[in-house]
Amino acid sequence: MGTKISWATDVWNSIVGCSKISAGCKNCYAANLAKSARLQQFPQYREVKEWNGKIAFVPSQLTKPFKSKTPQLFFLSMSDPGHDNVKREWLDRMFAVMAIANQHQFLFLSKRPETVKAYIDELTADRLYEAAKYFWKEGEIPKRLWRSLEQLKDYFEKLEFPLKNLWIGTSVENQEVADRILDLRDTAAHIRFISCEPLLERVDLRKYLGICVGCQTCEFRGDHQIGKPMVDWIVCGGESAQKASDARPCHLDWLRSIVQQCQMAGVAVSVKQLGSNPIDSRMYIDGVAMTTFQVKVKDHTDVNEFPEELRWRQHPVF
Ligand SMILES: [Zn+2]
Repeated sequence: MGTKISWATDVWNSIVGCSKISAGCKNCYAANLAKSARLQQFPQYREVKEWNGKIAFVPSQLTKPFKSKTPQLFFLSMSDPGHDNVKREWLDRMFAVMAIANQHQFLFLSKRPETVKAYIDELTADRLYEAAKYFWKEGEIPKRLWRSLEQLKDYFEKLEFPLKNLWIGTSVENQEVADRILDLRDTAAHIRFISCEPLLERVDLRKYLGICVGCQTCEFRGDHQIGKPMVDWIVCGGESAQKASDARPCHLDWLRSIVQQCQMAGVAVSVKQLGSNPIDSRMYIDGVAMTTFQVKVKDHTDVNEFPEELRWRQHPVF
């Protein structure tokens, strides 16, 4: 498990736009960023400014992964690839890029994992080859890789599914949406992950991680492994907002609980940030436990400022 990178190293926004679907979306980072003066310079962000489910396809961004030889961990940060308004042809192009740019890893995070599953169930190498031909015609595929279209076809014929460099994840911000993990489990993916961010309450993931919730063997302590975890990685964090007071508080005990569940299940875990309003109940002053305590930390993404037991920056093996 690597520890060097906390999340993604670059973004790949060939689709932008979304709509709000669950509690985690309330202070959507992407929706707010899309409205910023910096991004409103670009036509695709003007098109989706209302954040009402309109999605813009940005062909000029598609080939970005071809241009970097240095391995990156790309994240689609401005949309949800499982949104109903994402067209299949767009996803085909994106999957073709991922299949070709196999020096990189890609993170697909969705709050609509059933749609992602449906797409992947129908995916074929033929379809990706058809999509890849477009890049070939445009001369956008680095010529060092293939000298002829036949070679490209051959590459796609031998392509293995699921793609080794694609990590598919779903968001679980509260208990109510935790069954999204069942759709994720049923999706063909090399690496599956959960994003518990913004974490809005204590979430019990034991049944998804293969941990007993109480039986006679463990004398109902519920602390032993009885099955295979449905995921390879969990990344968690509190909510952050431009105006800190807008962010919903995150109790550090909720994060501690996620870390403990991951450790029990042997699942890689990364604590991304404490959020703008972290609350800790484990503060002791002169040996007396304080009830709730606002942690005064300015930069809640600096792992060195986290309480020691939350300094986890693991990645799944890839
Ligand atoms: Zn048990």
